[in-house]
Amino acid sequence: MSGDLLLYNTLTRSKEKFIPINPPHVGMYVCGPTVYSHPHLGHARPAVVFDVLFRYLKHLGYKVRYVRNITDVGHLEDEMAGEGEDRILKKARLEKLEPMEVVQHYSNSFHSIMEKLNVLPPSIEPHASGHIIEQIQMIQAILDQGFAYESNGSVYFDLQKYSRQHTYGVLSGRVLEDLLSETRKLEGQSEKRNNYDFALWKKADETHIMKWASPWSIGFPGWHLECSTMSCKYLGETFDIHGGGMDLMFPHHECEIAQSVAAQGHQAVRYWIHNNMITINGQKMARSLGNFITLGEVFSGTHPLLLKAYSPMTVRFYILQAHYSGTLDFSNEALMAAEQGLSRLFKGMKVLAKLKPSGGPGEYVKDLVSKVSDAMNDNLNTPIALSHLFDGIRLINAVKDGKEEISEAEKEELITLYNRIVIEVLGLKPEKEESRENAGLTKQLIDLLLQYRIEAKEKKDFAAADNIRRQLTDLGIIVHDTKNGFEWEMKE
Ligand code: ZN
Repeated sequence: MSGDLLLYNTLTRSKEKFIPINPPHVGMYVCGPTVYSHPHLGHARPAVVFDVLFRYLKHLGYKVRYVRNITDVGHLEDEMAGEGEDRILKKARLEKLEPMEVVQHYSNSFHSIMEKLNVLPPSIEPHASGHIIEQIQMIQAILDQGFAYESNGSVYFDLQKYSRQHTYGVLSGRVLEDLLSETRKLEGQSEKRNNYDFALWKKADETHIMKWASPWSIGFPGWHLECSTMSCKYLGETFDIHGGGMDLMFPHHECEIAQSVAAQGHQAVRYWIHNNMITINGQKMARSLGNFITLGEVFSGTHPLLLKAYSPMTVRFYILQAHYSGTLDFSNEALMAAEQGLSRLFKGMKVLAKLKPSGGPGEYVKDLVSKVSDAMNDNLNTPIALSHLFDGIRLINAVKDGKEEISEAEKEELITLYNRIVIEVLGLKPEKEESRENAGLTKQLIDLLLQYRIEAKEKKDFAAADNIRRQLTDLGIIVHDTKNGFEWEMKE
């Protein structure tokens, strides 16, 4: 592999040659999940995209320290205004659990789904609640520089003062007025100098559970702060790559930049990289629209919008078939096409392993290797890389049919290419065909049994209905009765 890696830097709005600060080391930080619910489709995209970047950088010979945080405190319900109940605490209240039980449960769920998607664990996975002292120190540094103020035990970032000396909105091009219009509804708030000021520290009330002592009050840190603090702690005051979903660009990443600049006088990040969003049948995914699909539901086919179950590798392949910078629409048709594409790719690789070389050296394979490498170097263009790999599969099949010839050396080169790119860099791995078929069959069988249960209930044979339900529960399948019939889920 050769050539320069170009990455689109949101900060400069251009594709730039990637030059690490301290080669061969690369520091990369990606915003991780707030662990108060099971991971959904929207979580899969940044996880897979930055996993491929992590893998590709290692493939290029870099030693990468990849930090991806777990948010377990301070992410409030109203992200824009930084107001409302803490998402973890709300879940704990609703489910009558300890907040850390919520955090552990959904962290486990996130990790198990990531493993299924063949997403490598990051080098460090810090928790916000484990870095309260560091966050307090950063707040103090921002206060010392005069870019924050204390008010009634809380500390707020002074955006007006900051924007007199620095530019707020360098990533998104959005200005303070945008923040003002989105936070205006909270005008009555007397604690803040300006409505758009965001909290670095919030004083907690008596009933609040997760709270810590600080010089200002017993309270908890603001959501934006943890990423600035933990990236600095593990990657240094200046580091190479910060990634995340485009939905985090404003205000979260803008606030991260403001905090770093305020505390240390300069920006922390060299390359800001953002993945675009996943839509569902052309619509934004939202609980209120009924199209909110968890990855567990995708893998078991249990959401009403799904015609069948789709395997983790199908989802991974489907994500990689689109460039990370474009939107990606989730539909049954797209998923089924991805399933077929993936199976064609692995069938071709099996054919390749058994191919009988013949003929002399041609230029085709060398050309293919460099085309794949060029695509990956061009801002991680996985769809183009895959289309070249499919051209290679066509060649492989033509050789098998005796229509083309390749030499022994070319065959070896092809095997190396597919192993390195498909398996190591794109992180795709063969799944047992039967496990995919089984997932579909399981859904059909459970639906069939539950249909019998409904019929039993209609005939007032409640003993039979209860029996079916109890036996399914014993098998780890939880049945919920709904207005229109039933829903079921596999116990985690
Ligand atoms: Zn973040």
